[in-house]
Amino acid sequence: MKVAITYHEDFGKNGFSVLKERIRPSFETLMESGLVDGIDVQVFKAWAAPLRLVEQAHTPTHMQNMQTDPYREVALLSAGSVMMAAELVAKGEAESAFAYTGTAGHHASRGSCWGFCYFNDVAITILRLRELGLKRFLIVDVDPHFGDGTRDFFGNDADVFHINFHSGTGEEHDPEKNNYDIGLTFGASNDRFLSALKSALELAKDFDFQMAFVIFGHDSHQDDYGGFNLTFAAYPKMAQMIREAVGDKGLVYVLSGGSCVHVAEQVIPDVVRDLAGRWPA
Ligand SMILES: [Zn+2]
Repeated sequence: MKVAITYHEDFGKNGFSVLKERIRPSFETLMESGLVDGIDVQVFKAWAAPLRLVEQAHTPTHMQNMQTDPYREVALLSAGSVMMAAELVAKGEAESAFAYTGTAGHHASRGSCWGFCYFNDVAITILRLRELGLKRFLIVDVDPHFGDGTRDFFGNDADVFHINFHSGTGEEHDPEKNNYDIGLTFGASNDRFLSALKSALELAKDFDFQMAFVIFGHDSHQDDYGGFNLTFAAYPKMAQMIREAVGDKGLVYVLSGGSCVHVAEQVIPDVVRDLAGRWPA
């Protein structure tokens, strides 16, 4: 199949309050879009991430702190959704995947978390993929908030190239450790974002990776709560650029920040349409 979509109805019911309202409407729009045909594009019901991997990723203190957190279960399910998506791609059952989540992951460090994040979904998934024999990964974090949790996990891991867009200032590229922070400043336009993305992906071409993750926060849209000022026109272009840069290596989108229902209803199907290769005539 071309695209696997991992989803669970609990994301919309029990997800983090700011994030959850967009889940069900955007999923329904996707289902009504005609994109999900059960052959090329299929939906899979997410399962919870195995605790042994979550415990391997996070410190005992963090696990203890999370024990009574009301978002614990949905955060485990969110990490499981990402893992399921990535495994389908790693095993060659899907060319690419889009993972729905009910909590985000990129502000979850090994020993702490903030900002609607509890467990680092991508870091836990990479542990699993490394068990399966994959080694090197590209992470493109297009959420306008700095992915500090992801950096905590992979800052010193040169086998993970972390491209990290944010709405602060300055650009910092560490070619030794493969970390690249791109501060687009507050209110970044489509042109600014897309040209920076193009340069960053150009750089990633020299990095030999087996799977790419896109930390997809649509809080980058001008109507949403993040620091960029993107319009709807940016997202199909972003999706195309990333898909072309990744080529036939696996590509997994991970839903991150964003609360606007009308934004999610458009940009999620736009990304899936690109992954499925079903562009409007
Ligand atoms: Zn964000």
